[in-house]
Amino acid sequence: MESKKMVMIPGPTPVVESVRMQMGREIQAFGDPRFVKDFKGLIDDLGEMMDCDGKTFVVAGTGTLAMEMAIANTTKRGDRVLVVSHGFFGDRFIDICNAKGLETDTLQSEWGKTVPAADIEAALNSKDYAVITVSHVDTSTGVAADLRAIGEMIKKFPKTLFIVDGVCSTAGHYENMPEMNIDILFTGSQKAFGVCPGLFVLWANQKVLERRKSLGTIPEYYIDMERWMPVMDDPVKYFATPAINLIWALKESVRLIEAEGGIKARYERHLRHARAIQSALEAIGLTVLADKGCRAVTLSNALYPDGVVDLEFRKAIIEEGIIVAGGLGPYAGKMFRMGHMGNIDANDISAALSSVERALHRAGKLEKLGAAVGTYLTEIAAR
Ligand SMILES: *Cc1c(COP(=O)(O)O)cnc(C)c1O
Repeated sequence: MESKKMVMIPGPTPVVESVRMQMGREIQAFGDPRFVKDFKGLIDDLGEMMDCDGKTFVVAGTGTLAMEMAIANTTKRGDRVLVVSHGFFGDRFIDICNAKGLETDTLQSEWGKTVPAADIEAALNSKDYAVITVSHVDTSTGVAADLRAIGEMIKKFPKTLFIVDGVCSTAGHYENMPEMNIDILFTGSQKAFGVCPGLFVLWANQKVLERRKSLGTIPEYYIDMERWMPVMDDPVKYFATPAINLIWALKESVRLIEAEGGIKARYERHLRHARAIQSALEAIGLTVLADKGCRAVTLSNALYPDGVVDLEFRKAIIEEGIIVAGGLGPYAGKMFRMGHMGNIDANDISAALSSVERALHRAGKLEKLGAAVGTYLTEIAAR
């Protein structure tokens, strides 16, 4: 019998039945009062989720388009941007800013570590920046930035807008715009919301809307906030066709989050499971790339012990029933990345860890089976 293939990469994440059902619903017109009500309700719920005092945008496109929307609506050619990068996705902002003719400075951490808030403060003191970008969780390293510390420090620079890439964190890690002084936050549907790929959500506070207004006409069309604003206020209006079924799917995901007790409760669940998963990986001789003080709760990046051949390991683990992602950049071939965000439970995680053990055993790097699963189960029972 062929085994099931569980998708445990850091996005797309598993999509549960009730969310999936929304994708198969009969289509409605975007102006149908039933859909308009659903869409408006979703926009309002998402805004409340982050205490956003400005606008929430739900638009067809992926996380990368949201990155571009964030930059396009807050800067003009020649402006200076500070990119704080903890890996591959942090670096993507450099490319986007360069493409837009912005003056870009970068603070890069060693992979597995974060840039200290004091270093960011020193950079902000040295020049005037229109915006600063930080990825909350960089998917390439499994590192989580300390948004509270950065947000606190950034209060001293009221003219610099704080843009947070939440694509691998939002709805897994806890985030709140006013509490963390975030001006723009965005994510993609396929990560911790546990919805199929194809939508992004971008929250922009009042300060951002004022900045957008001050820019006048911008060169972008589809991602111009001013074109979407009337639609987000009143979704009966048309700008570009909303992704009807994805919007329903996201709405169901928000319902699941509320049923769980909100994003704080969801974060606590992610934290409890993530720490147990990370102990479990270490119990079988793998090394977690991120330093202990800055580990993400949405994914873990595990370095192989000497002698494991990446492609063989990942082929074996697929045969054993789960799909994990390979390492990126300097860690290509040296580690695998396992997502554990969204709507997954202890049974899913036990199964995934069991597959990791069997693949390591096949690679000749694990004699006695059960240590990872055992460690995980013991820790979540105690927490
Ligand atoms: C996945 C990811 C992105 C890119 O999102 P796409 O939906 O693939 O465009 C950006 N930033 C982070 C942190 C991510 O994890």
